[in-house]
Amino acid sequence: MVEDVTPIRQQYLEIKRQYPNAILFFRLGDFYETFDQDAEIAARELDIVLTGRNVARGTRVPMAGIPFHAVDNYLSRLIDKGYHVAICEQVGDQPQKGLFPREVVRVVTPGTVVEPELLHGDANNYLASLVTQENRAGVAYVDITTGEFAATELAGEDLENVLRAELSRLNPAEILLPEGQGTGNGLPGQVTRRPAWHFELGRCRETLLRHFEAASLDGYGLHGMPLATRAAGAILDYLEDTQPSAAGLLDRLSTYQLSEFMLLDAPTRRNLELTETLRGDLHGSLLGVLDKTVTPMGRRSIRQWVNKPLLDIDAIRRRQAGVEILWADGLLRASVRASLRPLADLERLIGRVQSGHASPRDLVAIRATLRCLPGIRAALGQALEPLTEGIGEISPLAAELALLEQAVDDDPPATLQNSGVIRAGFSSELDGVVEASRHAREWIAALESVERSRTGIKTLKVGYNKVFGYYIEISRGSADQAPAEYIRKQTLVNAERFITPEMKEYEALVLNAEDRIREIESRLFREICERLASSGQIFLRTARALGDLDVLAALAEAAALGNYVRPELVEEPLLEIREGRHPVVETSLAGERFVPNEAVFEAGEIVRIITGPNMSGKSTFLRQVALIVLMAQMGSFVPAKSARIGVVDRIFTRIGAQDEIHAGQSTFMVEMIETSNILHHASERSLLVLDEIGRGTSTYDGLSIAWAVVEFIHNHPRLRARTLFATHYHELTQLASLLPGVRNYNVAVSEAEGRVVFLHKIVPGGADRSYGIHVAQLAGLPRQVVLRANEILQTLEASSGHATHNRPIAAQQMALFPETNPLIDELRELDVNTLSPLEALNKLYEWQQKYLK
Ligand code: ADP
Ligand code: MG
Repeated sequence: MVEDVTPIRQQYLEIKRQYPNAILFFRLGDFYETFDQDAEIAARELDIVLTGRNVARGTRVPMAGIPFHAVDNYLSRLIDKGYHVAICEQVGDQPQKGLFPREVVRVVTPGTVVEPELLHGDANNYLASLVTQENRAGVAYVDITTGEFAATELAGEDLENVLRAELSRLNPAEILLPEGQGTGNGLPGQVTRRPAWHFELGRCRETLLRHFEAASLDGYGLHGMPLATRAAGAILDYLEDTQPSAAGLLDRLSTYQLSEFMLLDAPTRRNLELTETLRGDLHGSLLGVLDKTVTPMGRRSIRQWVNKPLLDIDAIRRRQAGVEILWADGLLRASVRASLRPLADLERLIGRVQSGHASPRDLVAIRATLRCLPGIRAALGQALEPLTEGIGEISPLAAELALLEQAVDDDPPATLQNSGVIRAGFSSELDGVVEASRHAREWIAALESVERSRTGIKTLKVGYNKVFGYYIEISRGSADQAPAEYIRKQTLVNAERFITPEMKEYEALVLNAEDRIREIESRLFREICERLASSGQIFLRTARALGDLDVLAALAEAAALGNYVRPELVEEPLLEIREGRHPVVETSLAGERFVPNEAVFEAGEIVRIITGPNMSGKSTFLRQVALIVLMAQMGSFVPAKSARIGVVDRIFTRIGAQDEIHAGQSTFMVEMIETSNILHHASERSLLVLDEIGRGTSTYDGLSIAWAVVEFIHNHPRLRARTLFATHYHELTQLASLLPGVRNYNVAVSEAEGRVVFLHKIVPGGADRSYGIHVAQLAGLPRQVVLRANEILQTLEASSGHATHNRPIAAQQMALFPETNPLIDELRELDVNTLSPLEALNKLYEWQQKYLK
């Protein structure tokens, strides 16, 4: 019965109706309360007490509350678990019909959080949106904490892969999709479905035009990009629903083309361990080595640089020039980095100022950062101008700094709930109230002694209580001496209490002053924020330029520490890396020296086949070449003696992670899918890194596939991409004599005094032995086993009359242990419990191929 429920319950239900998909945090006094199903979820997920509340006679509903001051912690836990939270506040300060008006001020979702506690300082927090139609797609993304807002449109038969690559680069926290649109599985981030009509072109165009107060979208680069327009419009639409104050921060939208950046698909990003290792750590990744940044802007920026290597040689050279200036002059670098180090997160701070979330201490942090700018410009001195060409202008923001100096106290309280935010001398109105309040306090403080000497009453005291406020107390014996203007207020056993009108006036001054001060300070604070916000774009440009400067200095520092060189970039598809090193492995070798290797492709060379024993350094070499190319195109120096690199449009890797199993697919299936992707999409300007293709299946299958893949790359007119191919199939070395663009290399091994040492040196020619037994020894197999294996190997080699490497492995096993059946052995070793049905099928197929032929 609706008439029966309490008014506040009615209010709650009305608001909840508008937010059916979010948990509603309903502000009641010092708590956010949740009700009904929301309360059950909150109690379960947050481990808080589930209570109840009467909402009508005899009706109780579940309720769970959290204290408002601890909301961030609870919010982050719900957001992490995939919930959206609508925050409903009490608005206005007058109850209407006994009830405070309330409204939802924002809906917190993974892509729209702004609380510093809920954000990672090191990475952007993106909200993305994706619309697809036939073979085209629009992608837009926004980081509402930094104001970055961009859109692009993708097309082509490779759409699915390109799309996934782009989304894996962005790694959004949340991704908006139209209801009913396929794709959604396996996308990074949390998927939020929005009604399809929110993505309609007309509506989106209007949303954008209204938002930017523009007459046309052409100036935003959206001309002829209907899907990008739809994706961008849908984002704005969502923000207006969830986080209206954030939308205001977005006063720019840039469009971009994927063709500006090197394309790196998700497996390649993973395999090359660009921003995290396969285990998920920053340490051990490329970013881990290069990230010598000292500011939060720089940390986000360098991650973007690693994720988006450039294709435009001029743009790359501009970055290189900046790195070079800071690399060549160690003192300059040290002083620039030292002057950057104290900077706060200017980009996000100004974002909070613009969206109205800034606290007094945020302004102090902005001021402290602005104070550093002259020092940074001075430290750069002559170098400033050549650097800003690559990174944009660092404005001194002098007027804004002056305002903050004048206006904001040195050590303000954390929130506007307390006074003391605004510096004395900034506002005469405020100073007047503060002065009057101070005067009134002093007057009251002096009152006791003034009145004692005026009246001559020794027992006269001034006191304070909640009921009467200030009063004058005189002991019973002296009460009749009280002056005529004293007004009697209360009679106690031993004393009388009085007040005077003048005293009450001062009291009112003191008591009201605190409220008045807070009120004036809040108003002034808002005005200051508005003035700062009006320079928002200059702040953001400066913050980004500082971030990029930090990246240049970090790359220079990494280059100096790692002894890197500046690579030369050219348009022709060359690859000439001399004495290259793996940037990560070389730092992790304790005591041992990393052996540098050449990767110099001769004219006409297309595929380089590298054979060599396990653990000799093949995979390291392959990754090292890919990483050096990528570093070169992000503008970094590279670990080599010299490098000349033809710009690479796309790096493809197929690196056998031995036991990686995706969504029920067998390793071999994944391997073949990735290989097929490479063969379909690589171009002459690509770099292919193929490690142990065909390993996931039986010897003959694997060998045949590997062979055919090399032939295809070599012969296909569209392909002919620079290719590094590591393999343990020695048979493949025969290809060099059949195909003119194939070269053989192997990893050198020294066999002094019967001991095998891997030299990690890649040298021309094919390998002649596999040294499997040596590796078995390294791995700690019992000595008897190793010795016996050596004996058997010798017998085999002697009896076959030629080197072992041409003998198929299965055949060896057959001959060696005729009394056992290899199929039975394999069956015995199979762990059926961990096998997926698909893997089991693959296994059967493999055996059929292997043993029934
Ligand atoms: P493979 O792929 O041939 O099995 P890896 O590339 O995995 O061999 O290398 C095995 C180990 O050898 C690496 O973990 C590394 O410690 C070491 N290593 C590889 N290349 C070098 C090198 N150039 N210099 C020194 N050590 C190396
Ligand atoms: Mg390997």
